[in-house]
Amino acid sequence: MAKYTVTRACGHQERVDLIGPHRKREYALEQMEGSDCYACVEEKRQKENEENAAAARAAGWPTLTGSERQMAWAETLRAAAVAKTRDSAAWWPEKYPELEENPAGIIEAALLAQTSAAWWIDNRGGEIAGAVTVAAADVARALGLLQLLQREDLGPHILVRPTINLPRPDAYPLTPMVRAAVCSCGWQPYPQKNAALAGRDHIEGLAAEELEAVRRAHPQDVPHACTEELGLRRCLMRPFLRQ
Ligand SMILES: [Zn+2]
Ligand SMILES: [Zn+2]
Ligand SMILES: [Zn+2]
Repeated sequence: MAKYTVTRACGHQERVDLIGPHRKREYALEQMEGSDCYACVEEKRQKENEENAAAARAAGWPTLTGSERQMAWAETLRAAAVAKTRDSAAWWPEKYPELEENPAGIIEAALLAQTSAAWWIDNRGGEIAGAVTVAAADVARALGLLQLLQREDLGPHILVRPTINLPRPDAYPLTPMVRAAVCSCGWQPYPQKNAALAGRDHIEGLAAEELEAVRRAHPQDVPHACTEELGLRRCLMRPFLRQ
């Protein structure tokens, strides 16, 4: 073990004990010399949080709730996510040339509706995915993915599960897309992972006559509107109708 005095990038000096092979110690010292000390990093972070909180107040964004520490951090996460959402406005029409409305505004509103600091911290790195999950039906509609719901010949409940792709920076780490589930009756699952199971619960929970009407519109053993007119390989409602 050896003691060293290191001058950090911020100019502050620190005494450190280092162990291990010479090369490893050299590397650790270089890392330390190239970065600010803990107190300076904390101070910078705090200042950034305060600036973001002031900007949020000036913009009239809702007040966050949570512990003081959580709220301070969430202000910075929120500011970055909203900036990222605004930056992504040009990406959507490129990816979805048929869109009816740019979803960036819907996503921003869904982000700003999240006032719990814990939400921001839990969703960090995937804030846009989180907001799209919350507002999945509205985003899918804006992207022109819900046109099927307008068809009356498909029975009283048409359930679709559009896949919403996300702009690159937020396509991290495991959620490059959000899978929505929306029914023509207005039902949509509470934001959750398994939209398919929720959809099946919705259809199976219908009153007997309604379920019968759905089955009549989608006879699984013969060609019907789904397979004939829409040209789908399989009936739209098949995943939700247990035989
Ligand atoms: Zn320092
Ligand atoms: Zn329905
Ligand atoms: Zn069908």
